[in-house]
Amino acid sequence: MGEFELIDRFFRRDRPASRQVALGIGDDCALLAPAPGMQLAVSSDMLLEGRHFLSTVDPARLGHKALAVNLSDLAACGARPLGFTLSLALPAVDESWLAGFAGGLFALADEHGCELVGGDTTRGPLAISITVFGEVPPGQALLRSGARDGDDLYASGTLGDARLALEVFRGGLAVPAPLFELARRRMEQPTPRVALGQALRGIASSAVDVSDGLLGDLGHVLRRSQVGATIWAASALPLLAAREQADGVAGLPEATQLEFVLAGGDDYELVFTAPAAQREAVAAAAAASATPVTRIGRIEAQPGVRLLDGEDRELRGRFASFDHFA
Ligand code: ADP
Ligand code: MG
Repeated sequence: MGEFELIDRFFRRDRPASRQVALGIGDDCALLAPAPGMQLAVSSDMLLEGRHFLSTVDPARLGHKALAVNLSDLAACGARPLGFTLSLALPAVDESWLAGFAGGLFALADEHGCELVGGDTTRGPLAISITVFGEVPPGQALLRSGARDGDDLYASGTLGDARLALEVFRGGLAVPAPLFELARRRMEQPTPRVALGQALRGIASSAVDVSDGLLGDLGHVLRRSQVGATIWAASALPLLAAREQADGVAGLPEATQLEFVLAGGDDYELVFTAPAAQREAVAAAAAASATPVTRIGRIEAQPGVRLLDGEDRELRGRFASFDHFA
């Protein structure tokens, strides 16, 4: 099968063009048409076999994740998804793999009305690069630079479960099968918080999505905003969904659980700040987007991150988050 037949078979779809796509796959360029006056939000993320996913991963889950991590960046900016491009390097044409991958990819794309508008296909070691395009009203994008002293600090959904799955895959941890399935699903099929991000426009003062770990990604916000933060361990720890499973995390020390929550990575949740006066508006945004949100701390003028236990004592420990070049 040649390159063009492959694109036609697996990635080109016969469906009515959406409002935002004036021209899709097949020409030298795609033409996108954001609503008049909107700003275009653009983000890219690449996934490499061996570094970002295991060769054994289910292709449908991989298709989902490749797009999910990109949609998560749009979510963190409060942008509405419009479309995306897909650049693929494939070692060989494996039709059942391609069908599975495209199935997972398009299921998530359709959920968000985000259309595949082009890309590139080449032979090589398995690599997937996606660029997403979204729209946001001028001046309303959620930025990393807006956190202020006194703001509340929030996290969406659950944190740390993907890291738990990774530890099991690496052989460093054994957990009951149902718990592993839950954690593995979080790692392989993250949920980008697209509706929450848009609902937080005009409410949140800053936002970031958690790809490398809560502390690391929050650190970007703190540096850009020139502030610090206190996190309450007692509020953050329950975010590990695995804790809700009967004897799910038995035998796993609380310090390890906390490390998964704070520095786990691969969560694709939103961490955001908002003035205390916006508490009701944050709760309404969470309800409107059917996304759980937890207040986990506070922004302060003093730089750095302080972690407090239930008795307001400072916890110390190395909760490094993931850096590809560290
Ligand atoms: P060009 O050589 O002009 O860059 P290509 O021959 O690479 O164009 O691609 C032909 C068309 O197919 C283009 O519209 C391109 O965007 C699209 N395309 C190529 N690979 C993919 C892919 N993996 N997914 C979606 N569209 C693709
Ligand atoms: Mg090309």
